[in-house]
Amino acid sequence: MPDHKHALDQALAGDTRALARMLSLVEDGSPRMREVIRELLPRTGQARIIGLTGAPGVGKSTMTGALVAAFRAAGRRVAVLAVDPTSPFTGGALLGDRIRMQEHATDEAVFIRSMASRGHLGGLAAATPQAIRVLDAAGFELIIIETVGVGQAEVAIASLADSVVVLLAPGMGDAVQAAKAGILEVADIFVVNKADKPDAQQVVRDLRNMLALGTFEQGWKPPIITATAAQGPKDEGIAELVTRLDAHWTWLTESGELERRRRARAREEITALAFAALRERVAKKVDELAAGVADGKLDPFQAADEILDPQDRQQDEQKDLRYTRG
Ligand code: GDP
Repeated sequence: MPDHKHALDQALAGDTRALARMLSLVEDGSPRMREVIRELLPRTGQARIIGLTGAPGVGKSTMTGALVAAFRAAGRRVAVLAVDPTSPFTGGALLGDRIRMQEHATDEAVFIRSMASRGHLGGLAAATPQAIRVLDAAGFELIIIETVGVGQAEVAIASLADSVVVLLAPGMGDAVQAAKAGILEVADIFVVNKADKPDAQQVVRDLRNMLALGTFEQGWKPPIITATAAQGPKDEGIAELVTRLDAHWTWLTESGELERRRRARAREEITALAFAALRERVAKKVDELAAGVADGKLDPFQAADEILDPQDRQQDEQKDLRYTRG
């Protein structure tokens, strides 16, 4: 039996170290990854993927810790992936952050990992869906994806999660900033954290006003809740978040939206993988042709045709012929 197959069996049987090795394999973009993913694919599709995003400092890590504790109290197995979907070089140093979660360190039903991408095709964006598959197959019912990046990372999470929670807090990541970053549109649930601070209600009002201007998918209006993540799982806001997440899940499954979202995600993943591979394959040829186009010796359309598959070219030429004939 090949090594990785054994490791896969161990990981799926609940061996945390084997699971960590599986995830490293995915991060490294190891050539064996394909085989691993193919093998575990039939065991995937069960986990609920929750995205948690918001500006730095709003309390994402604190909230993640409180959520994990709340889920554990309810007897659910939960995994956390901290990712920056837009950066190829996250990880490493961030592991220090995770020390906050050490209270869960000895709990086998909790798995926490900062994702790093050590420079493979498509970077972290390509590695994250595979990491999710590994955790899903390993039987984690809930997978929390926490963004650690800024800017686009907050929006990119929408293409990974079933439910997106957007965090805001007084003084940082307020509603206007969130609107500018484009994250209001991706939210399924809004949480105004640091409700113990006097300005929290103002953030709620601002948010309500901003949302009144927008339109929403039929059937689900993102609720706004307040929470004090720093109080941990006993905080009412955390309990409400869990309830709202469950309600959103019910809506997703009953409305058919879950299937729609997962298909959209698969489409994006296939496109990204194919385009990344294609780009790499044609890079040298593009360089060669670029000189000709820059010097005015070759038109860019011809150059693009040179890159395309000869079969496609033939088809395109036939199409052109049809057009010219009217
Ligand atoms: P992240 O950067 O979004 O992950 O934010 P962190 O979880 O690291 O929190 C940023 C800071 O806000 C830390 O100093 C936390 O202790 C603090 N914080 C988190 N939640 C709360 C809260 O509910 N109330 C207050 N007052 N502070 C909080």
